[in-house]
This record gives sequence, structure tokens and C-alpha cells, in this order.
Amino acid sequence: MNGRITEAISVVLPVFNECDNLEPLHARLTSVLKPLECEYEVLYVDDGSMDGSWEVLKRLAAADPSVRLVRLRKNFGQTPALAAGLAHARHPILVTLDADLQNDPADIPRLIAALADSNDVACGWRRNRQDPWLGRRLPSQIANVLTQLVTGVQLHDFGCTLRAYRREVIQDVSLYGEMHRFLPVLAAWVGARIAEVEVRHHPRIHGVSKYGLLRTYKVLVDLVTLKFIGNFSARPNYIFGGFGLASLFVGLLSLMVVAYRVFVLRRLEATPLVFFMVVFFLTGVFSLFIGFLAEIVIRGFYDVQRRPTYYVRETVGLGRAE
Ligand code: UDP
Ligand code: MG
Repeated sequence: MNGRITEAISVVLPVFNECDNLEPLHARLTSVLKPLECEYEVLYVDDGSMDGSWEVLKRLAAADPSVRLVRLRKNFGQTPALAAGLAHARHPILVTLDADLQNDPADIPRLIAALADSNDVACGWRRNRQDPWLGRRLPSQIANVLTQLVTGVQLHDFGCTLRAYRREVIQDVSLYGEMHRFLPVLAAWVGARIAEVEVRHHPRIHGVSKYGLLRTYKVLVDLVTLKFIGNFSARPNYIFGGFGLASLFVGLLSLMVVAYRVFVLRRLEATPLVFFMVVFFLTGVFSLFIGFLAEIVIRGFYDVQRRPTYYVRETVGLGRAE
């Protein structure tokens, strides 16, 4: 690693009921970011906290001009909170991490250095993950292997929020569900170069995890959506149309055989072939029609996606001069 990043950095953190973590976290972030000698901002997104996190954040913002705050109207979830943060961040280098001190701010310079080595995304890999095995690490390992298989992106840890991105490769993607974990996949699909960096991981000391096994289910469902969107949703006709044409072809073959039997061999008794012919013809025609419909529906689907997944109640420091 020899490159150096001189561009300004936005650090984005989703916050949901993390009041006891915020002050020590911000102190550690500052001690890491100051020595980098780049311009930076730290953008906390309060995702509807009810434990006084917002008051702590406002104190941090009053004491430190590099702090910027976005407060969502209610708890929308980690992915919308991150989306809100990324949308309000102003700098070309984006760093995301959790606000619970499980990710270590001390790893940020290594992620940024990985970007300097002509990568567009640097993903943290919690090699020594400090979470329970059965409830968290095992489901996550299964999800990671499935994600690698489905997306073809070879990362070890899709669940790690600690990452650095060049803005260009993620600014157009829309995030919903549990999709924030697939940001590197979406980036890879637009040609981004992805690096993986081993990062530290600490057990949670203050507050509680907001997730259980339900998330694994959501991640798996999102994976299916991702596959659909990524590979053929823009052109559903490649699937339906292909299937329809193949079906029509088989129907046509059956027709030829049936015609040969009837007109050349003069064998008039019905065979199952007639049945196949009808079924394949109908399936073919219907598949083609469904393909056309899917093309039309998918356009609307893309528009619907652009609806916001979050609503902002107030912001602090966003209008501040650089
Ligand atoms: N988080 C959030 N909104 C939510 C749930 C979580 O902003 O609805 C934040 C949370 O405050 C933390 C990060 O997302 O900064 C990761 O959450 P958590 O630590 O609960 O997840 P885990 O580390 O257990 O996967
Ligand atoms: Mg955590």
C-alpha cells in the first residue's frame, strides 16, 4: 500500500439507542480522523432513538464543528438510516460503521489506504468476530456463502458495516430492506474494484443488539431480489422470452412429427404427441406474453423503488460552511 487519500472524507454512522456508546465512540473517531490531515465530517443519523441518543448527539455537534446530524422521524431501520446518511454526506470518500463500538475506528485509515490503491470499495472482514456463534456467526456464515454463490462477489463478510467507498460507485443505488450489506455487490456490478481488509471487532459493551434470527430470513429474501434485479430484471424477456421460444420450438417439432405421421404415414390415430404439441404451443405463446408484461411492470417497479425509505425530522450542521 503506497497511495494516499487527500480527498475529503464523510464518516456515516446509523444510531439507534446507543446513548452510552456515542461519547467514547466520537472521542475515538476524532483521535483517528484528526491525524489523517484530510478534511472530514462525521455524520450521525439518529434512527428514531428513544433513549436520549439525540441529546447526546446534539452536545457532540455543539462541541465539534465537524459533527453533522440527521434525525429521522421514527425508527426506519439500519439500511434506511445508512441511506439517509449517504444521501446527506457531502464528501467524495464515504466511510460507514456501526455506532456501538463493535467496529473499531482505528481501522478506518487502513480502509482508506486500500482505496488509494486504486480500489473503489474497501470492505471490512471481521475475521475474529465477537458475537455468539449459534445465533449470529453461523447464520451469517451461511448467508455469506450463499451470497458469494448467488452474486459471484467473493467477500468473506457481507454483514460488516465498516467499509469505505468512493462516492461515484454507490451514489445511484437505491437501498431498501437489508440491502446495505449488498452495497459492494451493487458496486461490483457497475464495475467497481473491491478490496477486502481485515478489521477488528469488539463485543458490545453498552446497549443491546437490535437484531435476531429474523434478519437472516430478510437477508435471504433480499438475496433473491438482488439476483432477480441484478441479472435479468431489466430484461425479463431474456428469461420468459427464451423459455417461450424454446417452448414454441418444441411445439413446432411435435407439429412436424404429427403432420408427418398423418400425411405421409397416413396413421390417423391420436398419440400423446398431439397433446404435447398443444401444451408447448400454448406455453410458448403465454410465456412470450408474460415476458412482455414483466418488461412493462419492471419499469414501474424501478420508479416505485425511488420512493424514499426514510423521512427526516430535523438536521444539525448540514448548512455549515466547509
Ligand atoms: N441501527 C439503526 N437502526 C436500527 C437498528 C440498528 O440505526 O433499526 C444501528 C445501531 O445503532 C448500530 C448499527 O445499526 O449502530 C448496527 O446495529 P446492531 O449493533 O444492533 O447490529 P449487530 O452489530 O448486532 O449486527
Ligand atoms: Mg453491533
